Amino acid sequence: MLYLSTRGHPERKRFCDILLEGLAPDGGLYLPQSYPQIDDAQLSELRRVYHEQGYAELAFRILSLYIDDIPADDLRALCARTYTAEIFGTGEIVPLRHVEDGLWLEALSNGPTLAFKDMAMQLLGNLFEYELGRRGETLNILGATSGDTGSAAEYAMRGKKGVRVFMTSPHGRMSPFQQAQMFSLQDENIHNIAIDGVFDDCQDIVKAVSNDHAFKARYRIGTVNSINWARLLAQVVYYFAGYLQATQSNEQQVSFSVPSGNFGNVCAGHVARQMGLPIAKLVVATNENDVLDEFFRTGIYRVRGSANTYETSSPSMDISKASNFERFVFDLLGRDGERTRALFEQGVARDGFFDLSADPRFAEAAARYGFVSGKSTHADRLATIRDVSERFGMVIDTHTADGVKVARDQASTVPMIVLETALPIKFAETIEEALGHLPDRPAKFVGIEDLPKRVQRMPADVDQIKAYIAQHCD
Ligand SMILES: *Cc1c(COP(=O)(O)O)cnc(C)c1O
Repeated sequence: MLYLSTRGHPERKRFCDILLEGLAPDGGLYLPQSYPQIDDAQLSELRRVYHEQGYAELAFRILSLYIDDIPADDLRALCARTYTAEIFGTGEIVPLRHVEDGLWLEALSNGPTLAFKDMAMQLLGNLFEYELGRRGETLNILGATSGDTGSAAEYAMRGKKGVRVFMTSPHGRMSPFQQAQMFSLQDENIHNIAIDGVFDDCQDIVKAVSNDHAFKARYRIGTVNSINWARLLAQVVYYFAGYLQATQSNEQQVSFSVPSGNFGNVCAGHVARQMGLPIAKLVVATNENDVLDEFFRTGIYRVRGSANTYETSSPSMDISKASNFERFVFDLLGRDGERTRALFEQGVARDGFFDLSADPRFAEAAARYGFVSGKSTHADRLATIRDVSERFGMVIDTHTADGVKVARDQASTVPMIVLETALPIKFAETIEEALGHLPDRPAKFVGIEDLPKRVQRMPADVDQIKAYIAQHCD
């Protein structure tokens, strides 16, 4: 399998090259040259494999359709080491729970940091360690986080050979729970840097360091953001697992409702659907930051800029633009790299928007690709959390509540699976606002706020961050 860029660069690459590279040289995102097709017999085989051998073997089977530069035995071992009951809290890894008639929750948040990002990041940590070891190279991951991504990355990379993490976060702006999760890590290869500033200052620092090409090469700086194809690929697996749990035969269809921010999670659903998994609808659920809902309703993609991005009670979906959206646009436009480049370089980067409302292919987005969308607000979130708790005795987090709210607005004729993207304890304040009491805390997180913290506080100054990185590399 070879990979191409969504912006038309002629070069084709193999999986392990794009694994470490991230963005394509022309600024595009990587996608496979074509999506492997799963026919009826193969789907039956995957059903058997999943029920008899479990999630890790299912992951191996799906990943091997896309990865041909890691020997099969090694890839199987990497999957087996990643998707264990010890790491994900249950042997089922992603159990499906029934909520109400026609509505299910797929639990994706029982990994080390209690958000779905662990599903992909844990695999990425093992893939990085494997590939860097094979090449005799090292990598220093530099990132910016306001919560979920940074902690998922740190828990995936802690103790891994050949990898260091330098994670910037805005000082004092993460929840006490999130700070405790990250700063209590004592691993030598994990560096927490609390910046005096806001999240955008952290992101600007990461960009400035990455734009210093000499520094980047000298210190082998890399990223783990959600545009990485390996993360997206790992997420494709749980769409299969959800489908195989909800159905008994391949004639049945399901729909998925996906709390969305950067379009990474639901883009994996798009890939699964393109492979032939019988998915009726992919429901894109947004919060007040409704960039994606606006696109699917109108054909206009209008990025917001940080000044026009709301701080909401589902903060992991507070995005001004959706960094994985380019992948779907590329497919929607019949994989026209030139056109995609124009839309993102001139449209998004220069004008802040593009408009496909008059393009006949936009009109097909729902029928051909199954995409529909909806939006949820703070009041919806509270009402949904309260309702699901009172009627079904389940406490769901704020992002998942957005998914449930938007799912219920659809008149679905097939089972609707809502992806649970975090556990409620991560967003305890809003749960308390909705229910009048705090959510349960998993035993392993009791008292983490009292653990010793390992964090370096620094001003928002690029040169000082560079000096810190240089000092802590080799
Ligand atoms: C990251 C995240 C999302 C958004 O996922 P995308 O892949 O960016 O669309 C939703 N909910 C939670 C809890 C998250 O951490």
